[in-house]
Amino acid sequence: MTQEDFESYISAAADAISPYDYEIRSTQHQTTKERIYALVNSVSDPLTQFATIRTPDEISYLKRLLDSMFETNNTRRREVMAVTGMQALETKIRKGTNRQSEGGEAPQATPSSDRGLTQTEAERLLANLVKETWLERSNEGFYTLSPRALLELRSWLVEAYNDPDEPDSWQRIKFCEACKEIVTIGQRCTERECNVRLHNICTAAFWNSRPGKKCPKCQTDWNGKAYVGQKAITSTEEYLKGKRRSGGKKQNDAVENEEEAEQPEASGRRRNRRRAVEEESSQEDTPMEEEGAGAIEPDENEKEEEEEDEYPLE
Ligand SMILES: [Zn+2]
Ligand SMILES: [Zn+2]
Repeated sequence: MTQEDFESYISAAADAISPYDYEIRSTQHQTTKERIYALVNSVSDPLTQFATIRTPDEISYLKRLLDSMFETNNTRRREVMAVTGMQALETKIRKGTNRQSEGGEAPQATPSSDRGLTQTEAERLLANLVKETWLERSNEGFYTLSPRALLELRSWLVEAYNDPDEPDSWQRIKFCEACKEIVTIGQRCTERECNVRLHNICTAAFWNSRPGKKCPKCQTDWNGKAYVGQKAITSTEEYLKGKRRSGGKKQNDAVENEEEAEQPEASGRRRNRRRAVEEESSQEDTPMEEEGAGAIEPDENEKEEEEEDEYPLE
């Protein structure tokens, strides 16, 4: 079958199913370029769909895992958009935290539908999600969303993690300047506030028609060495040092320590100014907000900014 045949077949299938609230979407794998097709229900809640055969506990766990990928491990300083295998099994992700403090409920009133997952249950779920191609696990042990999950969850992710009121400020979910798909692995503009991102596989064609290699939005020089994805961690000197020191075993030490060594492009002065602005704008914040399965509150973003100088991976 030729590519053309295939596409006309797909398009006919798409027409046939459209009355039933389904559509066929396709995307390219962010690193292998493989084209992926997915049947997406265009109406129902995608997170429920992400897990139609899962228990409520498993769905809550998934939500916390996504929060950890797209909030905790996805800041202006470091857009990792992945979690390590170790993080995925931490108690705060398996069980959620701060649950008992709300509204003075008795701690034992935790509903049975949200008791969290045991270590074994979480391990089994993660393995199944990899097998069913919802998650991918890298050789370095980072979990990311698969192309299929990105396709199905696209609008859900934007709604959950981006701020529609500030379209020009830094957003958590960003799209490739070339192919317009979500970037969770790729390159970024070195200007912290700029949202321009590119997949590695999209760069060659993109710069071909644009000599000078400057960010199309803010004109900052594009060096191709500012990374989105696990490379935001694994390319740091501290991570590599930790790996050498431990003979490649205890990589998580490096993940925890690399913060000290990392002091990227921004000058101290600019950082300070920005922090001052952030502190001002976050004064009305409540001191500590809930993490976990709850809905994303708009001012959650501000909290994250305050946390930026702490380890994004902890
Ligand atoms: Zn792209
Ligand atoms: Zn830029």
